[in-house]
Amino acid sequence: MAYKAPRGTRDILPEEAARWFQIESFFRALCARYGFGEIRTPLFEHTELFTRSVGEESDIVSKEMYTFQDRGERSLTLRPEGTAAVVRAYLEHGMVSGPQPVKLFYCGPMFRYDRPQAGRYRQFHQFGLETFGAAGPAADYEIVALTWEFISVSLGITAVDLELNSVGCPSCRPAYRAALLAYMQPRRASFCPDCRRRFTANPLRVLDCKDPGCREAAREAPRIGGSLCPECGGHFAALQELLASSGIPFQINPLLVRGLDYYTRTAFEVVSREAQTQGSLAGGGRYDNLVEQCGGSPTPGVGVALGVERLILAAGGKAAPPREACPVYVAYTGDSLAAQAQALAREIRAWGMPAEAELMGRSLKGQMKFAGRRGYRFVCILGEKEHARGKIIWRDMAGGGQEELAPEELRERLESSRPGSGGV
Ligand code: AMP
Repeated sequence: MAYKAPRGTRDILPEEAARWFQIESFFRALCARYGFGEIRTPLFEHTELFTRSVGEESDIVSKEMYTFQDRGERSLTLRPEGTAAVVRAYLEHGMVSGPQPVKLFYCGPMFRYDRPQAGRYRQFHQFGLETFGAAGPAADYEIVALTWEFISVSLGITAVDLELNSVGCPSCRPAYRAALLAYMQPRRASFCPDCRRRFTANPLRVLDCKDPGCREAAREAPRIGGSLCPECGGHFAALQELLASSGIPFQINPLLVRGLDYYTRTAFEVVSREAQTQGSLAGGGRYDNLVEQCGGSPTPGVGVALGVERLILAAGGKAAPPREACPVYVAYTGDSLAAQAQALAREIRAWGMPAEAELMGRSLKGQMKFAGRRGYRFVCILGEKEHARGKIIWRDMAGGGQEELAPEELRERLESSRPGSGGV
């Protein structure tokens, strides 16, 4: 039987992996510039961490978690998102008592049992940022600004919109919730089954549900903007001012509430305008009650998660990885030179250049064909006759010519052939 990767997962093969590496490097470089430090948390956590923080009624917890019992009968869950684990680590390592704010970033796989389609996987990858301990709008601004800079400048993705909303706080949301419940109650029959079920527990979710019936019901629904308390209203206005003054374009979307229960005040998404990508490239917001909900003292927080697969899809060819510098293939004729070929490749690598030697024992013709298909620019051939005379054949695959070099000339030739050396 031929095995296949499980549904909703995919392999990242070398050409694509080079691009992943590049995009990750861009993200790391930007995080370093903004003063975020990396955190790596386990791929699984105690199930309760997610049910408590993300919320029982969220799609993630109610139907998308990969939950299992380990041999010690503990309930564990493959992480469906990054924030809960980072909050757990923030508390567990006492970061709360160090200097604030604490600014962390992460990169890694997440797991959700979702219906797979283009840009939606069961194992997917996120980059994320979290800032703890800063309550003011400047912290929200910094998260949004880094996200925007990464997407639009580092990756050159321009067909995107930044959507912004405030979902209020525990002091002003109840009044809005009540107004929304009253408005929506008579329209309940037109909701999707999910919204009908969770409507009483979380009526706000109807607002950004994609189902046509829910959309129609939400069209004329009361907006949260009018219900925000002065503190939430001021925070939201200040964030908008900060964005506007740094030239970051945004749109207010009063229907944006996001699917996770822990958000307070700021909610935002970066949405692609291109049809082939699943709309949302990144989403985040403020979560001022989450640390407390996870057992800590009240600590404000704000963060974002970016979907790597979707970013790569949306970036298209714009961030193509640079070609490896001057790659060399080491070919040989005659079995007796196999070890010398390996030694020569080793020596070239020690000079700081990529080199690969023949492993398959093919004919010289077969080796040249392989080097051509792999895109090698240069081939060093160890031929028995030449080797006996202390020479190496140097072949330029682009020009087709070849010549004999003494071993001491080889290094010089390779160095002058490096891109940017003024040579080839
Ligand atoms: P969320 O944690 O749901 O706010 O998602 C944050 C970002 O992760 C989204 O904007 C997407 O770019 C990405 N994302 C979420 N779910 C998936 C998935 N199943 N497959 C691929 N990317 C996803």
